[in-house]
Amino acid sequence: MEFDLQAALPQLLPKAIAWAEAQARRVTETGEALSEAGTVTARRVGVEHPELIRILLVEELPLPDEPSLRGAAVFTGLIGPHMAGLTLGHSILIVKGALDLRLFSHECRHVHQYEQHGSISVFLPVYLQQIATVGYANAPLEQDARAYEQ
Ligand SMILES: [Zn+2]
Repeated sequence: MEFDLQAALPQLLPKAIAWAEAQARRVTETGEALSEAGTVTARRVGVEHPELIRILLVEELPLPDEPSLRGAAVFTGLIGPHMAGLTLGHSILIVKGALDLRLFSHECRHVHQYEQHGSISVFLPVYLQQIATVGYANAPLEQDARAYEQ
């Protein structure tokens, strides 16, 4: 049976936003600020406030505990073994060993997108709606991030 993300989205969104905001706070508290080179790259891909970015290296990307949210994340592949980065606001989670310029610049472009939308709670509904309707590869926000990879 296909998992219908679009149908599930209205119920999932408040939980997804709460989870994302909690993860973002954790990275804000424990992550590292950008180096000078990192700041240059972030600005190059459009980040307005690179000084707010924090990066946290993790063994694996965190999965939500809540069953329906966890299931959706796994089914959509948004958080899984083949994903090496996750950006939530100015917070960037990167799987240890996967940090390179291509991934870093891609995630920084997502930071720019969050800045444009204004907050996690505004960005996530737009982003997840795109994933639900056209899929990860064709989502305009993903295409934009790929276009800015360095
Ligand atoms: Zn992306």
